[in-house]
Amino acid sequence: MIRMDNVALGYTKTPVLKDLNLHIEKGEFVGIIGLSGAGKSTLLSSLIGNISILGGRYQVGEYDLRVISKKKLTRLRSRIGFIFQGYNLVNRLNVLHNIMSGMLSRMPLHRAMIKWYGKEELRKGYEYMQTVGLEQYALQRSDALSGGQRQRVAIARALAQEPDLLLADEPVAALDPISAEQVMEILRTINNQYGVTVVSNLHHLDFAKEYCSRILGIAEGTVVFDGSADELITSDLDRIYGTTTHDNKSIDRKEIDIQSLSDADELILRQKKHKDQLYIEPAAV
Ligand code: ADP
Repeated sequence: MIRMDNVALGYTKTPVLKDLNLHIEKGEFVGIIGLSGAGKSTLLSSLIGNISILGGRYQVGEYDLRVISKKKLTRLRSRIGFIFQGYNLVNRLNVLHNIMSGMLSRMPLHRAMIKWYGKEELRKGYEYMQTVGLEQYALQRSDALSGGQRQRVAIARALAQEPDLLLADEPVAALDPISAEQVMEILRTINNQYGVTVVSNLHHLDFAKEYCSRILGIAEGTVVFDGSADELITSDLDRIYGTTTHDNKSIDRKEIDIQSLSDADELILRQKKHKDQLYIEPAAV
């Protein structure tokens, strides 16, 4: 479904990520982990053709992203759902309308313009609302919902697109632990029941470990770990979280002792205390 051979990506001529050799198959649930500024969002955005490809071969579905036309890019994007930390809902619309709007890009223009949904489309919209457990909120305005509920609406809207691929950029970073768990469970359902391939940036290592069939660790401008949670060992974590991508300053080794996967979350918290030294951008926890 996705194939990168020696790909380099960047915003200028200098690559942010390079030597990317990734094959992602249909049905995988991929979690991308790494420090803030490592390039997780860049990698995710590149999948919808938003980042310059500076070298290599980059294929998504049947499309070669190096030479894709605008028309084909629009077609590709209509098959990819994207959910963000900030939800991107239309606040004044109710839950059902927000969800149904995910179908607009697939509908004939004359119906899309007046949001004329057919019986089958409404049935599906209701099913997606049930999938995310929000059917009792169908007519509630989206801005009256909690953060976790809004993210669930955003997921149902992405599902309404009937995507082949769902991309999630830090989908639970702004949520409390219980809401975060619910959202991760829903992503798992979408992956398992609907067969949608999911690729998600995750700040919390424990979530990546629990929910993802495959983890990509980014550091030093490339993928330094590619495997299952079981294969992720301390030295991998040390490499992923142990240095910054940009200034390459070493973290104080005496202060940090990664004993287990959950210790890595502790590591992120400690790094946040030192963010002036370690972060180019504020961490999005
Ligand atoms: P992450 O998602 O892991 O926090 P990003 O992909 O956002 O990392 O950023 C990787 C690098 O690319 C950082 O150095 C960041 O400053 C840079 N970067 C991100 N977005 C842009 C942009 N729009 N223009 C130029 N540089 C950017």
